[in-house]
Amino acid sequence: MKVMKFGGGCLKNADGLNRVVNLIRSENNLPCVVVSAVAGVTDLLLRGLADVQKSQETVSRTVACCRDVHLKLLEQTVADDSLRPEAARALNVEIDKVERILTGIALTGEATVAVQNLVLSFGERLAARLVSAALGAGGVEARHFDADAIGLLTDDNLDNATADLKACRKSIGRKASVFRRDGLVPVITGFFGVTDRGRISLFGRNGSDYSAAVVAHAVGADELEIWKDVDGFMTADPKIIPQARKIDRLSYYEAAELSYFGAKILHPRTLEPLDGMKIAVRIKSLLDPSGPGTEICSEGCENEDVVKSVTADDEIAVLRIHGPGVGYKPGVIGRIGRRLSDRGVNIHAIITAQTCINLLLDKKDAHESYDALRGLDVGVMSRLDLEEDIMLIAVVGDGLLNRKGVAARIFSSISRAGVNVEMISTGASEAASYFIVRDSDGDKAIKALHREFFETSR
Ligand code: ASP
Ligand code: MG
Repeated sequence: MKVMKFGGGCLKNADGLNRVVNLIRSENNLPCVVVSAVAGVTDLLLRGLADVQKSQETVSRTVACCRDVHLKLLEQTVADDSLRPEAARALNVEIDKVERILTGIALTGEATVAVQNLVLSFGERLAARLVSAALGAGGVEARHFDADAIGLLTDDNLDNATADLKACRKSIGRKASVFRRDGLVPVITGFFGVTDRGRISLFGRNGSDYSAAVVAHAVGADELEIWKDVDGFMTADPKIIPQARKIDRLSYYEAAELSYFGAKILHPRTLEPLDGMKIAVRIKSLLDPSGPGTEICSEGCENEDVVKSVTADDEIAVLRIHGPGVGYKPGVIGRIGRRLSDRGVNIHAIITAQTCINLLLDKKDAHESYDALRGLDVGVMSRLDLEEDIMLIAVVGDGLLNRKGVAARIFSSISRAGVNVEMISTGASEAASYFIVRDSDGDKAIKALHREFFETSR
């Protein structure tokens, strides 16, 4: 079975929706579909949640906007008068729920994380209804399924949930055979799941990719297609490198490395549920549907030149913990890690020397982490420094570790461009080499690397 996931950009207008319907209709075997919210709707709901804390009057505006977007799309894609009223009713039922929940929040002045998540989940609930109605109008028998109703169970981490794959295999996996028997295309909501206590949990922004991978895992799919309204992975960000090229093939690990850093093509955790399975993943563009897209394969696929892409992230900071003995006193890293994880801070990487521990953190967590560690008494810590004007550059490619001369090419090209490298981490992953430069040198470094690996024939 194939799982096809459509991002919000694919659903943003009638043309996109019609393309989606045509793609699904042209499949020989019935696929399983996972959808994101229509582009902009999650943001609209987020804004609605923020506004309602200030005044109840904002509820009607949020709700009217939401209704407008979906009913207009419905009108443009479902021309048949015998089908449209039923679909409109299904959409209105959900939008009325949004209105009631937001009004409740306005009246009580309170919204738990689970209630906020519930509100945000309506983007996907509405999209699933819209897409299944459009499919029906296109002659494809389809039915929407909400992730909580279908049993997409997760842990209790409400903002960054992890699916319980075993439970999902049972619940969703079992239903897949029913869909096939009944000859209908299920349209499943992305982005959220449900805890065993019935609370709505989210997979983070762009989390529908992860949902699709969970569904692919659960139904034992042989293929997962992730449809976007932009090109797949590129050799670099085309905003910095106009001549950047699309990448044809990546390994799971390469794609995961690229997703964590900068490349907003795929939710960084998408490949987790697929690890150990032989599911072919393809990133496809709705604008070039017959093009090959980017294939992400479970086996490695080394390039002649090793490097597949150069990416960067300036939303990071480095917290340096200085002290003469930090490198040899047992337990220091453990205590630091615990202190930060208690505050929900994620450490991207740790680079240590005998006299300094460097933590790579999200910029948004930097100040809280600084304060948290300042109060920590580990005996050997003499000074804390926070650096925010930096950029993390990742050079990604399978075989970086075992191919001679690649590191030399990386760093000599950067030094020729006059850029100073402040910190290097190579060898931690077979698929990526990281280093840090000044924020202001970032573009220069990326250009130099792209020239070295993609623009000069050797
Ligand atoms: N609708 C959610 C978001 O905008 C999830 C997704 O698009 O995948 O982040
Ligand atoms: Mg999105």
